[in-house]
Amino acid sequence: MSVSAPSAPIDKPRSNCGVVAVYGHPDAARFAYLGIYSQQHRGQESAGIVSGDGRQLHRHVGRGLAADVFSDAQIFSTLTGHLAIGHNRYSTTGASMLVNAQPILVNLVDGPFAVAHNGNFTNSGLLHKQLADEGALFQTGTDTEVILHLIARSHAATLSEKIIQALREIRGAYSLVMMTKDRIYAARDRNGVRPLCLGKKDGVWFVCSETCALDLMRADVIRDVQPGELIEIGPNGMLSHQIEPCPARYACIFEFIYFARPDSRIYNENVDKVRRKLGKNLALASPADADIVISVPDSSNTAALGYSRRSGIKFELGLIRNHYVGRTFIHPQQDMRDFSVRVKFNAVRGVLNGRRVVLVEDSIVRGTTLRQLVRLVRNAGAAEVHVRVSSPPILAPCYYGMDFPHKGELIAATMSVEQIRTYLECDSLAYLSMEGLMNSVSCEEGGYCTACFSGEYPILVEDSIGKLQHEVL
Ligand code: SF4
Repeated sequence: MSVSAPSAPIDKPRSNCGVVAVYGHPDAARFAYLGIYSQQHRGQESAGIVSGDGRQLHRHVGRGLAADVFSDAQIFSTLTGHLAIGHNRYSTTGASMLVNAQPILVNLVDGPFAVAHNGNFTNSGLLHKQLADEGALFQTGTDTEVILHLIARSHAATLSEKIIQALREIRGAYSLVMMTKDRIYAARDRNGVRPLCLGKKDGVWFVCSETCALDLMRADVIRDVQPGELIEIGPNGMLSHQIEPCPARYACIFEFIYFARPDSRIYNENVDKVRRKLGKNLALASPADADIVISVPDSSNTAALGYSRRSGIKFELGLIRNHYVGRTFIHPQQDMRDFSVRVKFNAVRGVLNGRRVVLVEDSIVRGTTLRQLVRLVRNAGAAEVHVRVSSPPILAPCYYGMDFPHKGELIAATMSVEQIRTYLECDSLAYLSMEGLMNSVSCEEGGYCTACFSGEYPILVEDSIGKLQHEVL
């Protein structure tokens, strides 16, 4: 018997983090909890909240899901105050250790200060080295801590100016929430890579990664935090500062494909609508002679519905996902093949038996899970299995806050589509084209990052010792 590794999505890019901020409610920490609870899909390794009561900041963080970290209601009696920030973490930099849990809380010369981050800085290696050479002592293994050192060293007149000065040094992707004793700040990188939205209800301000968190808090969506904008909310209301102009927007298109919840609205578009369109465009370009369309639940459900709608082939629930698999589970025996997939998914024989099946998947990383799912569907009696993928082949890793395996482990980077079809043991395989992908999103708001599909990185990337990895394209 053995305890498995964390069970969060198998063979998928790991979502990075979620952030939330609340200002103006006497029980701000409880609202922050609702925010991180509804953004749990953005990170399952740790969760944390810092609250402020005008005099001091209070922090509680822990490893695991938000519901586990905050399972004791007594915790909220220590998280007092009318402002709070919260964080769900999946580590894209820094190991999965409690010391790296966010929000990070420090004491600046201006007083206590907390920060929580979604994204990856692409010049953190250089900045880290410069700061360490100048004597900075780093307490965590996260790139987020770089901001704190930059703010601490700034000689600008006000804290807002210090934050702006610090953020002008940073490159890459960040959606940040920060707080002092009596105000919260929210900032988005100048390319707007990660989502961040502003909401309000009855005089209470909210900032969240996704609007699904605002829905749970019953807040109205006001607008996105703009690329290159710093928002400050305090006793005198909301102020907007420009960190730097937005040279071009590179919103992460993978948020639409897989990461964001379908009930969220990001980059001024409904995720559900875009995801359906991905499926529709896939059906248009890659039809299949089949009896039913099924999805790999849950992330592919919406695209599969789009495929079904456009193709006219009936949508069925052919795979069922067990939502109650915890972070660890007990293997009945070490050598039980495909156990980690079968503990999560089961096939519905009555739906699949004798049918020609279109199996819609949102993306393929290594292909190991999908291969087992194709077998599962076939073993349940499917006559044919046609795999349709609602994104283009993933060819390159992400340096802007998503955790992909190395290029050598990405199946599409090393195999042709026909080789992948053979590996998956399916009857046919088709991916959505780049054209189909771009046709599914609105370009009114500007451009998207598609680097994991194209290998063309729109923002300069440096590695951990400051060596250039990719040139600006
Ligand atoms: S590389 Fe892919 S996952 Fe990363 S930001 Fe760009 S589109 Fe998103």
